[in-house]
Amino acid sequence: MKDVFKQPRVAVIGAGMAGLACAERLLAQGWPVTVFDKGRGPGGRMATRRVTVPSGTGPSGTENGSAADVTLRFDHGAQYFTARDPRFRARVDDWIAVGAAAPWTGGIVRLTRDGAIEHSPGERFVGIPGMSGPTRLLADTTRPRSGIRVAEVTAGEDGWRLRDEKGIDLGEYDRVAVAVPSPQAVPLLAESPDLAYRAASAVMAGCWAVMARFDRPLDIPHDGAFVVGSPLSWIARDSSKPGRASQVGETWVLHGSPEWSEAHIEDQAGDVANRLLEAFRAIAGAAVPEPSHLAAHRWRFSIPTRGIDTECLYDPERGLGACGDWCLGGRVEGAFLSGLALAERMIGAG
Ligand SMILES: Cc1cc2nc3c(=O)[nH]c(=O)nc-3n(C[C@H](O)[C@H](O)[C@H](O)COP(=O)(O)OP(=O)(O)OC[C@H]3O[C@@H](n4cnc5c(N)ncnc54)[C@H](O)[C@@H]3O)c2cc1C
Repeated sequence: MKDVFKQPRVAVIGAGMAGLACAERLLAQGWPVTVFDKGRGPGGRMATRRVTVPSGTGPSGTENGSAADVTLRFDHGAQYFTARDPRFRARVDDWIAVGAAAPWTGGIVRLTRDGAIEHSPGERFVGIPGMSGPTRLLADTTRPRSGIRVAEVTAGEDGWRLRDEKGIDLGEYDRVAVAVPSPQAVPLLAESPDLAYRAASAVMAGCWAVMARFDRPLDIPHDGAFVVGSPLSWIARDSSKPGRASQVGETWVLHGSPEWSEAHIEDQAGDVANRLLEAFRAIAGAAVPEPSHLAAHRWRFSIPTRGIDTECLYDPERGLGACGDWCLGGRVEGAFLSGLALAERMIGAG
């Protein structure tokens, strides 16, 4: 699989932050890179949900007003990112300079079990106009092929052969970077049992995300809160983030805790939305009226509850590796650094 006289052809599976960071670094090295993603667009869990609703809507989306439509946007996956590592911080500054990210200065608190409110300081950033802003920018150079689910990575005559779920040949590559959540990475790493075994040791929890729009501002003094002792672990006034000024009314995102979400992962989305709205009311008191839009999204793999505590996985002999937030830190920043680390390992090994 290794031919030192030619630039290695690389396939990157997954166009989330890790895969795109990996692909960008390899392209900068002059290596030919093809990125595949099963989704409709890049970004993975740095996701923005767009919903078009009538501008005058009654409870739960029933129309009672003018016919004009408005588009709502919700960051229903990653909420914000930190930038502690200087390499990631430099990229965040680049994104800020071109308007793809901005600091989020909203008031964030921690609601403790005994009802106390503790300020939660820290520098936080968000994508512009939605969380997918930075990954869309990375996709401009890495040009992922969307809507393709890679189902097989097998050793061929002259490299790694990739196939989709219908068995369609996706080409042959000298190196493969698997940049997908760990449970989805395991079957793609099957040709290297050691890597598959290590990926399988990571644990990722599901998360139910509820998206709610209220026609009037809610009387809640903070823009985001970590919650304990509730089915919810996080609530946020999504429309308080920079670049969301076109929103009508207020939009909120509520995240079920890992424990609650796992226990209800197979429930119907409508039931989940109502139950988490009730939990929101229990936290916020009488301040929460009926939302004019309410929906829930299930993330089967949201954040790693047990990572593998290594930058990335790479088998230099075979040119097969894996990266993602489950390797390093469980966050957007960790995903970026893991993708970069895998690219550097590949380049270093030649
Ligand atoms: C609800 C929720 C809240 C979060 N909150 C935060 C937060 O506040 N701050 C923070 O820093 N992080 C947060 N995170 C985590 C953050 O989103 C991730 O750490 C980061 O986005 C992971 O990037 P990644 O590239 O490793 O994986 P992903 O973003 O999951 O990208 C993997 C990509 O691979 C694709 N894929 C999967 N299988 C295949 C296949 N077989 N073939 C082709 N493509 C495939 C997927 O479509 C996806 O686009 C949150 C995540 C969720 C879900």
